[in-house]
Order: sequence, then C-alpha cells, then structure tokens
Amino acid sequence: MNKGSLFIISGPSGTGKDTVLSEVFAAEPELRFSISSITRPMRAGEVEGEKYHFISTEEFEKLLDEDAFLEHNTYLGNYYGTPKQPVLDCIENGEDIFIEVDVNGARQILNKMPQAVSIFILPPSLEVLKSRLSKRGTETPEQLEKRLGEALREIRCADMYDYAIVNDKLEDAVADTLTVIRSERLRASRRTDEIRKLTENL
Ligand code: 5GP
Repeated sequence: MNKGSLFIISGPSGTGKDTVLSEVFAAEPELRFSISSITRPMRAGEVEGEKYHFISTEEFEKLLDEDAFLEHNTYLGNYYGTPKQPVLDCIENGEDIFIEVDVNGARQILNKMPQAVSIFILPPSLEVLKSRLSKRGTETPEQLEKRLGEALREIRCADMYDYAIVNDKLEDAVADTLTVIRSERLRASRRTDEIRKLTENL
C-alpha cells in the first residue's frame, strides 16, 4: 500500500493558519490532523480533543519520559507536543496527515522525517498581523507583545520550509495549500501501487 504523506504547517499566531486549515479540511475531508498535547490553559471557545488535548505538566512530563512525542517544545512557558504513534499509524495506513507546530517543532520533525512537506503561512504585513492578534481579544497586552515577538522570530525562519503561503485573501491561501497537497499526491514515488497494477500483467 502507498504510504500517507506528512504535511507540517507553521505560521505565527495571527496569520489565520487555523482558518486556512479548517477550509482545507472541508475541501479534503479525508485528511487527518494531529491533535497536540499541550499544558496551556484552555481559551474560551476551545474544545478538548478538537485541536488540542489539554493535559497537566505532570502528565506531559510522564509522556516525555516514555518517549511518546515526535517533537515537543516550550512556547511562552507551556509545553506543546505531537504524540508520535497516531502520526506513524496514519502514514503506515496510507492516510495523509497535517501537523501544526511552531518552527522549533517543524525543525525536529524534519530532522527525523525529511520526507515531510513543510508549509509556512505568512501574514500579508506586520500591521495586519498586529491587528489580527489584538482583534482576537484572548490575550493581555503583555501576552500580545510576547506573541508578536515570537511571531517575528518565527517569520525569520520561514525560508527553511518547502512552501511559503501568504494569507491575504483567505480563498487564495486555501487554494495554494490545496495545490501543495494535490501536487504531493501526484508524485510518482507516491503512486507505486497504481504503477505496479498497470505493469504487472505486461
Ligand atoms: P497557541 O497557543 O496559539 O494555540 O499555539 C502557539 C504555537 O504553538 C503556535 O505557533 C502553534 O502552531 C504551536 N503548536 C501547536 N501545537 C504544537 C505542537 O504540538 N508542537 C509544537 N512544537 N508547537 C505547537
């Protein structure tokens, strides 16, 4: 069976990466999403098990000891980690999976799994990024300032990714992301099953 593809997506808070992803998942419902385990407190509107599993620091550290994460990072004082086994299972079962991580997490995954396809979502400008961050209204001014600083550090690393997609008009960013996914699926190296079937009776 053809193995599934692994897509890594990053982009600082405020780039609208979650909105892009939800449209991409609506268009490609068979895509899988890796649910991270995190120790940050739940924000209003977040649902356990949807994007994140909200766990305690003790639970996270126990999982770390058990080597249960593909990657992990500390972001503004909280742990964020990608559970390893679900990702490996998806790929083995021929399913394509998206992992949303920060730059540090992306680097760790790319070191272990260089075949992963990496996408960075950029804001159209710093002004737009600032205004999107403050409109969210979920952070204190001090937290906002820290997130902005973190965003600038991440943007400086965007050139280590395979693709950089600007989220100015949402529909264009979604179309660009779908183009990356569909191109990846057309790689000859991912279609060995089809090629074998066509040639086995020759
Ligand atoms: P937020 O607190 O805004 O949900 O996420 C903060 C940052 O952590 C974002 O850049 C997000 O992409 C990243 N992130 C989310 N899940 C993970 C994860 O499992 N590992 C790592 N390294 N970063 C993550």
